[in-house]
Amino acid sequence: MQVFYDRTSFSQYIESQKGLHKTIGFAPTMGALHAGHISLYEAAKKENDIVISSVFVNPTQFNNPEDLEKYPRTIEDDIEKLKNSGLVDAVYIPGVEDIYPDGMRRKHYNFGGIENEMEGAARPGHFDGVGTVVEELFRQVQPDNAYFGEKDFQQLKIIEKLVEVLNLDIKIHGVAIYREDNGLAMSSRNMRLTKQEKEASSVIFQTLKKVDDWFRVISIPEIKDRVSEIFDRKDMALEYFMIADEKTLKEVDFFSEDTNYRAFIVVNMDKVRLIDNMHLT
Ligand code: AMP
Repeated sequence: MQVFYDRTSFSQYIESQKGLHKTIGFAPTMGALHAGHISLYEAAKKENDIVISSVFVNPTQFNNPEDLEKYPRTIEDDIEKLKNSGLVDAVYIPGVEDIYPDGMRRKHYNFGGIENEMEGAARPGHFDGVGTVVEELFRQVQPDNAYFGEKDFQQLKIIEKLVEVLNLDIKIHGVAIYREDNGLAMSSRNMRLTKQEKEASSVIFQTLKKVDDWFRVISIPEIKDRVSEIFDRKDMALEYFMIADEKTLKEVDFFSEDTNYRAFIVVNMDKVRLIDNMHLT
């Protein structure tokens, strides 16, 4: 596996691969890698000649400087995991100047309104920051296919929209949420949970499965009441639960035919924010 720390040497690598007509599968990350990230490379490996990942903690998508500072940085460990996976041909670990040569600014995009729902409502400008870094990475990596986790479903939809508005010839693939044995969605934040908290957090996935059972059987307000009740009885705070149209990401309060729905949940366990979602069948 090749490791590139600057734009110049990485561009030369890309040009050489393009010269050989290799198809490129790309999965960007912010590091602190775990099995959820590896599942993106597995998907990419199946459909491309070479797999490229990047590790870059992007300052412009953080609203809070403290969160940016606190973000786990485990680069040596990440490189080991990438190598050991045997799935990745090259990793790009740029510096801020390689991504933002003209100064650190976020571009403004029109994502058609999905940027203002859910995670966007709580974090103004967040998805402009995500768009800015992913656009720049796409221009440098020039992938044929790019892979994003359904764990961050709204982000996946934003990236699909980004490719559409910029008219980029890149196919975006969503990868199913990779879960711990107890159903908790795998995340670098899970390291901050105590053993008891981790066990208790399985209620999030259990709840989503119940919601799927209740889907189209009882009304949405009733489902919401039941979910609130579950978390009232637990030592964790439900930040939001909603059922939304998968396309618009707008919350709905009744179901109609021919629409795909997904349940979204955010729970705060002590100081750890846990996010999850599930397609309703
Ligand atoms: P991050 O490093 O957290 O920015 O995540 C990089 C990519 O990995 C994003 O596309 C995430 O959605 C994806 N990802 C993170 N955790 C998981 C998971 N548990 N299952 C699937 N994809 C994930």
